[in-house]
Amino acid sequence: MNQYIHELEELDKKHFLHPTSPIQQQQQHGPSFIFTKGEGVMLEDIKGYKVIDGMSSLWNVNIGHGREEMGKVALEQMSKLAFSSCFATFSNEPAIKLAAKLADVAPGHLSATFFTSGGSESNDTAYKLARHYWILKGLPKKKKIITRTKSYHGVAMGATSATGLKPFRDFTNSLAPDFHYVENTSSEALRQMIELEGPDTIAAFVAEPVQGAGGVHIAPDNYFKEVRDICDEYNLLMITDEVITGFGRTGTYFGIEHYDVVPDMMCFAKGVTSGYAQLGGVMISERMHQDFAKHSTGTLLHGYTYSGHPMACSVALKNLEIIESENLIDRAKQMGAEMLAGFKALQKSQSIVGEVRALGLMGAIELVKDQDTNERFQEPVAPLVVAEAAKRGLVIRSVVFDGQDTLVMAPPLVINKEEINQMITILAETISAVE
Ligand code: PLP
Repeated sequence: MNQYIHELEELDKKHFLHPTSPIQQQQQHGPSFIFTKGEGVMLEDIKGYKVIDGMSSLWNVNIGHGREEMGKVALEQMSKLAFSSCFATFSNEPAIKLAAKLADVAPGHLSATFFTSGGSESNDTAYKLARHYWILKGLPKKKKIITRTKSYHGVAMGATSATGLKPFRDFTNSLAPDFHYVENTSSEALRQMIELEGPDTIAAFVAEPVQGAGGVHIAPDNYFKEVRDICDEYNLLMITDEVITGFGRTGTYFGIEHYDVVPDMMCFAKGVTSGYAQLGGVMISERMHQDFAKHSTGTLLHGYTYSGHPMACSVALKNLEIIESENLIDRAKQMGAEMLAGFKALQKSQSIVGEVRALGLMGAIELVKDQDTNERFQEPVAPLVVAEAAKRGLVIRSVVFDGQDTLVMAPPLVINKEEINQMITILAETISAVE
């Protein structure tokens, strides 16, 4: 077995270019975990070592690991019809049913879905559809997309261009034009940017209801209502990126529901299948859908091979059934409150814990040298905490962009109180160890 594991590690180093990876570290040490099993909130690696998946893997395994019923549904659909395309006027049963189900559960008038394979494709799709919409409406100059600092929207060319976290944009030396970045918590800053750029040049504003990869930043209470009003006043489309916040993560079906606001377009992915298949999409309002139908005489020249993939859509339908029948959205709210209470206890017991925040099961802990002044350490300590926590049985993530020194976590919605307490205990021990 040891020889087999060693061989796998060597093959990984030689042949596997990992996503978002510290490549020198990977080349030197090989993979830190080769996961082979999952059950509930736990992951197990090839050596039998178990960890709590404090990130729901990549903020996506909402219903937890090891659900046999998901495999059953995938097998049934694959055995019947693994794939047929939704090109032009072709369709399939799971895609139709999922689109209808999404219209049922989505906020307000969001009623039609364009399917993709993930979040990045969803964002690129949203920006293209927004621009196309204004072309059809006879306003082709409306093409700029306003996005926020500290935002993350994915790695396709449009999604990278929309990402406010600069290191992602600096990774490459040429991006899509016409993206503008506005301060993430100020509706007044948005208004000023619109005035400066000219509303007749702006297609849309895009925002995550709670910023995830940028460090779990929660907007002020009135922010999204004011943003909605501004978008209406200046005739811009409002796009929400619910790739992380959708499907129960924040204690409501979609994150924007906390703010009682309905966007014109909504991107989703991740939690729609809880990672059991690759699927994303963009929902558009009934008004936009009708306008597309009315003004578009040619072909909607945007589509992926896997748009409306039957197996992925059948897996999504089962996933939503589980989220609803097991009351996982309410559970996220309750367990989120427990998690936040645990963070606050840590703030009292650990001198380097600064601001803590959470909305449902999406939380962050800032690390500081001085709790009173919020002074940061010269070198961020969050990555050390993450490495140490993994050794103690908890996988979480650090965010060090923009001078932050933050731990973020987002455990599966099936987590129970005992498991939350376990996470907090490991965090306390870990922070004490690195302090
Ligand atoms: N949008 C948000 C808010 C995300 O958090 C992510 C991924 O983390 C994406 C888009 C990109 O999704 P994907 O990695 O599925 O392309």
